Amino acid sequence: MKDTPEVRGSFLFKGGKILTGKPGEVLPDSVLLVEEQRIVFIGREDELKIEKREGARIVPVEGCTVMPGLIDCHVHLWGARTLDYLHRALVPDELNMIRAVKDCESLIEAGFTTVREAGGNKSIHLRKAIEEGTIKGPRILSAHRAICITGGHYDLHFLPLDYVKGMKGIFRLADGADDCRKAVREQLREGADFIKICTTGGVMSQRNHPNEVQFSPEEISAIVGESHDHGRKVASHAQGRNGIANAVKGGVDTIEHGTYVDEEICDEMEKRGIYLIPTLSIMHKIATEAGNYGMSPWALGKGAELNKVAVKALNIARKRGVRIACGTDFSGAPPMRHGDNALELILMVQAGMSPYDAISSATKVAAEALGIEEQIGTLEQGKCADILVVDGDPLKDISVLQNKSRIRMVMKEGRVLLES
Ligand SMILES: [Zn+2]
Repeated sequence: MKDTPEVRGSFLFKGGKILTGKPGEVLPDSVLLVEEQRIVFIGREDELKIEKREGARIVPVEGCTVMPGLIDCHVHLWGARTLDYLHRALVPDELNMIRAVKDCESLIEAGFTTVREAGGNKSIHLRKAIEEGTIKGPRILSAHRAICITGGHYDLHFLPLDYVKGMKGIFRLADGADDCRKAVREQLREGADFIKICTTGGVMSQRNHPNEVQFSPEEISAIVGESHDHGRKVASHAQGRNGIANAVKGGVDTIEHGTYVDEEICDEMEKRGIYLIPTLSIMHKIATEAGNYGMSPWALGKGAELNKVAVKALNIARKRGVRIACGTDFSGAPPMRHGDNALELILMVQAGMSPYDAISSATKVAAEALGIEEQIGTLEQGKCADILVVDGDPLKDISVLQNKSRIRMVMKEGRVLLES
């Protein structure tokens, strides 16, 4: 695979299938023309004006599928390389940043042209370095630090509280409605694109369980009100039923994990247009491999328990009409490596989704969940040229998306970031 310098210009994709990302649409005998940052034509070649194609580089895509760049709605760009949380807390953050830069490249190599970072402290800087062209990476939407309660999910319970408060790490502890509002303002001040909160306990937090409720309805309401006042969406880590219900009633925009959703909550989510990001990948990895990579026994036990119901949750939500967006919750630490993110699509198909719906959850629906569907998510005239060319047909075999040797080209905003 050769690394290409960033080239922008005019490109005519010709000879393959075009999966536009619009519901069910696959165009067999069509061409796609990119000029500068945008898609300017999709259709039959004989309908494309001669002068339009002059000077365009022909990209032959016989046997390939041309599709929208993939979107992972739940990643962490922590540069993590171990699942041992004590070790992780003490690694110099400069080293983590170097690793996170590499993870951004790996995401591009895997065809992911957009990611949403659901809590961290590096993505606002990575986003800047990518936008100015210093490093190669996907478009990033950043929550900056995740907001959680003292002793809640994200807090490092095995360290003294004073030490944790001095860390300026990947989370911000907040207690009481006023402090919650301030925590939102701090993230916005640093450049957050959206706000991430935790309304239940979680797998990786030592002294609480996913079924525990975190944040009071008043605190959630303060966070959501402040975020929406600034035009920002709110994503809630929510696994247990009551904490999901609080987040939904409080008006968040996406439920992350949603492990114990039931029909009633799903109906409310559907009614309010709240998306579910089921993160099957992290549950699967914890249940199958994480024990070999330093994850603590207390986390492994909870992870295995949750993995048993994650697929059920996805299917309840699908049946009740909740829109499902793709998110892995990968952080870079093996076995949750960036670059393997298309695993989520494979798990969705195994859970019963059609390959088209799984792809849609990582393209069109993901863009809608993030509120950037005007720019990306489908291949349409006028939209940003975020394009993935994959050798083969992911509708017949979804696993081609996880095979990096099958990725032929990755284009972001009309720039070729990878070609092989
Ligand atoms: Zn997460």
